[in-house]
Amino acid sequence: MNHVTEIFGSMVFDDATMKEKLPRDVYKALKKTIEIGKSLDPGVANTVANAMKDWAIEKGATHFTHWFQPMTGITAEKHDSFISPTGDGRVIMEFSGKELIKGEPDASSFPSGGLRATFEARGYTAWDPTSYAFIKDGTLCIPTAFCSYTGEVLDKKTPLLRSMEAIDRHALRILRLFGDTATSRVATTVGAEQEYFLVDKALYERRKDLKTCGRTLFGAKPPKGQEMEDHYFGAIKPRVHAFMQELNEELWKLGVLAKTEHNEAAPAQHELAPIFETTNIATDHNQLTMEVMRKVAPRHGLVCLLSEKPFDGVNGSGKHNNWSLCTDTGKNLLDPGKSPYENLQFLLFLAAVIRAVDEYQDLLRVSVATAGNDNRLGGYEAPPAIVSMFIGSELEGILEAIETGAAYDPKKRVEMEVGVHVLPHFAKDTTDRNRTSPFAFTGNKFEFRMVGSSASIAEANIVLNTIVADELKQFADALEGAENFRHAVMELIRRTVREHKRILFNGNNYSEEWRREAQRRGLLNLASTAEAIPRFLDPKNIALFARHGIFSETEMRSRCEILLENYHKTVLIEALTMLDMARHDVVPAVVEYTSRLADGILKKRAVGAHIACELEENLLSRLSSLSSALDTQIRALDAAVYGAREVHGNEALALYCRERVLAAMRELRGVVDALEAGVAADAWPYPTYEELLFSE
Ligand code: ADP
Ligand code: MG
Repeated sequence: MNHVTEIFGSMVFDDATMKEKLPRDVYKALKKTIEIGKSLDPGVANTVANAMKDWAIEKGATHFTHWFQPMTGITAEKHDSFISPTGDGRVIMEFSGKELIKGEPDASSFPSGGLRATFEARGYTAWDPTSYAFIKDGTLCIPTAFCSYTGEVLDKKTPLLRSMEAIDRHALRILRLFGDTATSRVATTVGAEQEYFLVDKALYERRKDLKTCGRTLFGAKPPKGQEMEDHYFGAIKPRVHAFMQELNEELWKLGVLAKTEHNEAAPAQHELAPIFETTNIATDHNQLTMEVMRKVAPRHGLVCLLSEKPFDGVNGSGKHNNWSLCTDTGKNLLDPGKSPYENLQFLLFLAAVIRAVDEYQDLLRVSVATAGNDNRLGGYEAPPAIVSMFIGSELEGILEAIETGAAYDPKKRVEMEVGVHVLPHFAKDTTDRNRTSPFAFTGNKFEFRMVGSSASIAEANIVLNTIVADELKQFADALEGAENFRHAVMELIRRTVREHKRILFNGNNYSEEWRREAQRRGLLNLASTAEAIPRFLDPKNIALFARHGIFSETEMRSRCEILLENYHKTVLIEALTMLDMARHDVVPAVVEYTSRLADGILKKRAVGAHIACELEENLLSRLSSLSSALDTQIRALDAAVYGAREVHGNEALALYCRERVLAAMRELRGVVDALEAGVAADAWPYPTYEELLFSE
């Protein structure tokens, strides 16, 4: 066996391990639970727990934890040791089925958006047996869902699992109508390409903004940025290469299918693409990927920045959420297929996605809305805040033929049916040309490109699964009673194209014309998180999530509060960090440098009036007026931050931060960056962009 196949999944209690470690009947019972999603029999749970514990101890683990994903966006764990006293002063290592299935962590320190009264601080976690347990840092981690004691959802996994069930149910109904009796489950699959930056750790340590906020709040543009486009797919530096190698190994041990890695467009930016998996596992694995990236980087003298926009004027980082639907018989439902019948089925699924994206533009926007991602979206490097869809000209042509053919010319209808017959197999290079689209069809999957690099992909997929499930439900409702099935399908596709084609756009999403065109088409442009989040509570959205049992209205309201709170807290922390840096580092540096200049002028003058001092005088005068502006802008930002105390309620505070605080931050940054450009390199208190981006 070679090294990679040997280590791959070595820290995962995966199918092969279960088969090896569990009695046959227990293994079978567990498999069944995993496949049909039923709850586990206590007897079975005890045996599984015991086998898991023995396996974990063999691998050096001493503790176990329920590993869950609260609304903080990162994963949480509460470690318990396997140790259990025997009463005679000794201990044994124990782990019961009860402990495996259910945990009761104190929920009071996790965000609940007002859901959980403080007197009922307990929450509980429940094992998600569809995602394998694994060992990380000497601890057996059990992927779990997290709820309040009264059953309200407090995490990202529960709604994700529910949304997967919803889409399974309705996709199956459609498949049955097409005569498919072999499929018994439809799961969504996801491959999340992860972008990130690596910077030198010693330089990082000298920047408060990076340390506190994960991104730079000041920084003049370097003489060379990414203009030369020489970084993308360029040679990887040795230190980065060593990091990637170790990262891959660590991820492989955890069963994460890290596959390709390359440099990204910006200097110091990189990407990791995993092989796709079932959505909930892909989500768990993406969380692990981010965690391992952060952990491995310092071993190479590096720090991994996952923030969406670490550097102004340089491309930010996102996560491309590749999404598709797959049957348990191994068929990709977004693959056009070879026979006309498969083609028709594909077109119906395509129509469902088109209608879903158009009707729920707001939810897709909300699913990626954070303060960090606002700095990236619409920055002529990432998709704009306007949701639209790219399907390529070939497919658009076919849809057009279906739409017009039937409506206007019965003769053409024959042609249109022929069009379906000869539906081409979409090579990646004919469909993936448009890199500017927020939501692109790439041959046999959709790529949702608006997700931020630091975000969990759960939100985006909860929304995607639910909105498509809802359209499939409506299609199935309409088709199940149809007299002429084929005709009814055509009619549905035709109507969908007619009513929702405004969402299709094949042009340049970064352009100003598209902004205007999108407005003409009546598409939403929710430029910031503060405006986007409240749309979550639109009555149609509340009805949607209730219809599929994903969220209750109360749960949605709580989520909305958490997201808004997160936004204004982030902005205010950044503002305070800026003020701190400006007052304690920038002001002293500027005062010192200007007095150095003034001293120099005096010394020159002492030599004689004929010695020219224009350079120093001009510089001093420019820096002095910038210093006055600095003083003004520091006070303005301080006032804006102070003013936030008078604003009450998360929504109002979010809007206030967007309008007042961010504006004041921009002004202050402008002045500081201009000062940086005018001051001697040795006088500036922080490593520059050039050092951060181009160090070896
Ligand atoms: P592209 O060149 O379009 O980016 P790749 O084949 O390199 O396509 O895949 C990009 C990402 O999409 C990878 O993470 C891959 O695993 C994922 N992917 C491929 N097929 C699917 C699918 N059917 N469902 C979900 N993700 C997929
Ligand atoms: Mg991609």
